[in-house]
Amino acid sequence: MNVERDTTVQTYAHLMLEHLSAGIALFDANDLCLLASNAMYDSLHQVEWQQGRALGHTLDEILNGAANHAEILDIIAIFRNVAETGTFFHAQEYPTSGSMRSTKYWDWMLEPIFEQGQVRYVLVTVTDVTAQVVARMQTDQAHAALTQVHHASELELQRLAHVETILSSLQNMHRPKELAQAVLAAIDTCFSPHLLAFYSAQPGQKNLSLLASHTSASPPHEELAFPSNPLDSSEFPTLQAFYQSEPVIRLKSQDTGRNKNEEKDAFLALPAIQCVIYVPLWKNRCEGVLVVAFASRQEAYELLVRTLSECAPYLAEALVSTRLHAAMIDERRRLYTILDQLPEGIVLVESRTSKISYINTAAAHMLGFDASQLIGVPLNQVEQSLTGAHIPGQQPETASHWKFALIDTLWGKTITNQELSITRLDGSKIVVLGSTAAIRTPQGMTTEAVMVFQDITALKQLEQQKSDFFAIANHELRTPLTVITGFAELLHMRATSETDGMYKYATQSITQECDHLMQLIHEMLDVSRLEYDQLKIQSQYQDLLVPLRQAVDKYVHSTSTHRLRFTLEGIQPTTSLMGWFDMLRIEQVLHNLINNAIKYSPLQSEIEVGVSLYCNIPAIRQEVLIWVKDQGIGITASDLPHIFERFYRADNMDRSISGFGIGLYLTKELVQEHGGRIWVESTEQQGSTFFVVLPLKEIIHEV
Ligand code: ADP
Repeated sequence: MNVERDTTVQTYAHLMLEHLSAGIALFDANDLCLLASNAMYDSLHQVEWQQGRALGHTLDEILNGAANHAEILDIIAIFRNVAETGTFFHAQEYPTSGSMRSTKYWDWMLEPIFEQGQVRYVLVTVTDVTAQVVARMQTDQAHAALTQVHHASELELQRLAHVETILSSLQNMHRPKELAQAVLAAIDTCFSPHLLAFYSAQPGQKNLSLLASHTSASPPHEELAFPSNPLDSSEFPTLQAFYQSEPVIRLKSQDTGRNKNEEKDAFLALPAIQCVIYVPLWKNRCEGVLVVAFASRQEAYELLVRTLSECAPYLAEALVSTRLHAAMIDERRRLYTILDQLPEGIVLVESRTSKISYINTAAAHMLGFDASQLIGVPLNQVEQSLTGAHIPGQQPETASHWKFALIDTLWGKTITNQELSITRLDGSKIVVLGSTAAIRTPQGMTTEAVMVFQDITALKQLEQQKSDFFAIANHELRTPLTVITGFAELLHMRATSETDGMYKYATQSITQECDHLMQLIHEMLDVSRLEYDQLKIQSQYQDLLVPLRQAVDKYVHSTSTHRLRFTLEGIQPTTSLMGWFDMLRIEQVLHNLINNAIKYSPLQSEIEVGVSLYCNIPAIRQEVLIWVKDQGIGITASDLPHIFERFYRADNMDRSISGFGIGLYLTKELVQEHGGRIWVESTEQQGSTFFVVLPLKEIIHEV
């Protein structure tokens, strides 16, 4: 098929231009009259200029009223410039104000077309790039926001790193000063300020005192007294921070003349300082204030304020606990200093580890060690840890007595005044008197065991010497006494009717005094036996009444100086009081009591020895009561509690009355050995009654 194509080129060119997505137009360079434009370009005009109605009109006419005046002038100027100068114009993102205040962006090209060296036409190509520009701008905004977030998170990371550095400086600090120094060093690492000061507010004190500083120049205040009215603190930012619990930031005024506050602010007044931050350390109460000063105003002090505000409660808590810890250590040191001065040995063992947690100088000396060698050593490794081996010649059981006592105490068994033998490192032996106790928490858990002991080796040796002395003295004294008594009796027997009275009196006196001496020797021997727990009574099941009566009868007949009376109360003479008695010892008891009654009452006064049954209500056991009553000098109330003590003699009697003060002591021991008890009732100058109660097994009433 043959198609007519002579106008085809123009038609097709027109068709292409009409469907081009860019607007294209041709202007006359002389008057800027629109010569041709495609549909897209037309659509950019106001409605009244569309559909070819703009053709043949000048740019001024077409634009008039289309955009704002400044924009029109700007566009016309650009057109004119291209038309007059023949320069190419290209704006990639030319903004114009669109409808509804929205901005449109144009990729806009003006190309001069020359004819005979003159600019004849101006070819305009314009593309709406608003969508691309808006998309790019949104991307840019998102990017900016991201960068901002990134920056903020980097700052936060940095702050967290600072917080970590500062908080890790608190570890293992035991004293407030140490803590303050460590904290300031950490802040210095993080922020490198010009000056740092750490003030502490110790409870009960009326000032803030400087604990530590970190600077070449010393901080202006060593101490800052609290004002009587907290409102007066506003002039002193350190105090202001203390009271208000919020950080205070002070910047140096740029004016040459200083303001009033600045004058008061001693930190800000320092020549190099431009900015000072005061951070209170709060945890329930303000424990102190940190002062951080910078030499320039550009320092990141906001970061510092946030960092320190976050750390402040932990710093306050650490300060409180180091204060407590330091006070505890000081108190413990004071206590240990006192304990080290004591002559008694003290050992403390920790329950959890069985390690020696404290040993005083006296204890270490007694055990033959150095205190420093023993602290921290487990009980079972004391010898090995010091010698590295078993100590030759040391019996494990004797070596460990004191350690066993401590271990027993950790398990709840305590000892009181127990003799323990200790073999020391050098092999020498000592005897100690030790007591132990468990140290418990309020919940009753044993945390430590303490042992207190004293070296009684010398005392023991002395006792041994004394015992040896008594044994020897007993023998050495008794032998000549027996001989003297024997000969005195012999001489007495040889007396004749012619022998003068003096002779008889002398021989009798020798015998009597020898008996007295012998009795004393026996008593002394009994006392030393008692000390060594060797005084044993030999009881037999027998009647008490008959032998008792016989013993008293002996006195009734032999005593001429006093009137001795035997009384039975509520008992028949034929009644048998059966029980376990060592009759010799019972006689000794009676002898001591009657002898004392004779010694301590006037001549010819009456002495009553009485026996009755002793009835407890409700009677659980049968007992007999024996009493010896005199009308003598009596015993003062202050002496009464002591007269049964060894070697005790009352003050109210004539010192010429012989005696050692051991008779009643022995009497009491003998009564107690029989399971009985003894007491006295006495009124001075009126007389005394000694009561003895002895247990009975059976009472037989004979008909
Ligand atoms: P002494 O050998 O001194 O008599 P005792 O142990 O028998 O020792 O008595 C201790 C002290 O008790 C006496 O020294 C005396 O002061 C006082 N005492 C004992 N019995 C009597 C008594 N019957 N009347 C007054 N005082 C007495």
